[in-house]
Amino acid sequence: MMKKNSSLTVIGSIAYDDVITSAGARDNLFGGSATYFSISASNFSKVSIVGTVGKDFRESDINLLKSKNIDTSNIKKNNSGNTFRWKGDYKSNPEEPKTIYTSLGVFEEFSPKLNETQIQSSHVFLANISPDIQLELAQSLENKNVLVGLDTMNHWILEKKEKLLEVIKKINIIFINKTEASLISDNSDIDMAAKYLLEYGPNICIIKDGKIGSYMYTKDEEMFFCPTYNIDRLVDPTGAGDSFAGGFFGYLSNITNPKKDDFNEAMIYGSTIASFTIEGFGIENLLRVEKEKIDYRFKKIKSKINLE
Ligand code: AMP
Repeated sequence: MMKKNSSLTVIGSIAYDDVITSAGARDNLFGGSATYFSISASNFSKVSIVGTVGKDFRESDINLLKSKNIDTSNIKKNNSGNTFRWKGDYKSNPEEPKTIYTSLGVFEEFSPKLNETQIQSSHVFLANISPDIQLELAQSLENKNVLVGLDTMNHWILEKKEKLLEVIKKINIIFINKTEASLISDNSDIDMAAKYLLEYGPNICIIKDGKIGSYMYTKDEEMFFCPTYNIDRLVDPTGAGDSFAGGFFGYLSNITNPKKDDFNEAMIYGSTIASFTIEGFGIENLLRVEKEKIDYRFKKIKSKINLE
């Protein structure tokens, strides 16, 4: 399928987060699904972001993305509103934050448009954001020979399930956590939830189960399980899912005609990158990732798996 030059584009939230975890509380952390995804994927490939920020957005945060060689030219600054904000509390459950508030800010009136470079992308990731925005982009990518991934969350399953199902029909790989998979499919058995999602059209359904690991289901009913890396201390789970997807897609975007083993390795890279993110608040530890550390954790996870 991949005739184009490898290139990766992500659309998703660019945010300021307030988080409360058992390790402490932090305000105004630079976050958002597209932020975590792009920094994670930048360990493997050049990433381009589509998104919007408001008048309160810090110039230093754009510079931070640029320092990771991320193309920020399609991040639209809208001075008539504020940047997306989210506050989550993980104190009662580190795997399922209680959302204290979500404020869409400038995303409320955002309509995504791909620039010239992004139109040529071989890989596009629709990170967590309103399904209305995801659908616009998914429609513009139809029949364009692009591998499209998708992530979402409880909030959108509850608010816009029908729209979300429309998006799922148009993408190739869905990433979802176990709770969200049960919610959307109305089935607590993850094999059945994966079957439900695959019937909508994707070729691959990845269900993340926190500390346990992630399951990759394909249409031919094969399943691959990828464990997590054993970290010393969980500090802040925010961004684990986006980092997983960024590692997965970043690695995959360099491979022409990926085979089963490549997808399995992409899962291991996803799990590897997520393990760094959750060891610090916000993106602080993700920013410290180096190739040697990635290789070390990748090998540790791989050794737990019998890859045949
Ligand atoms: P996760 O990988 O699921 O932990 O994603 C965490 C990121 O998702 C945070 O940085 C939030 O800013 C962002 N986020 C939270 N709620 C939403 C939402 N409803 N839509 C888009 N992004 C969100």
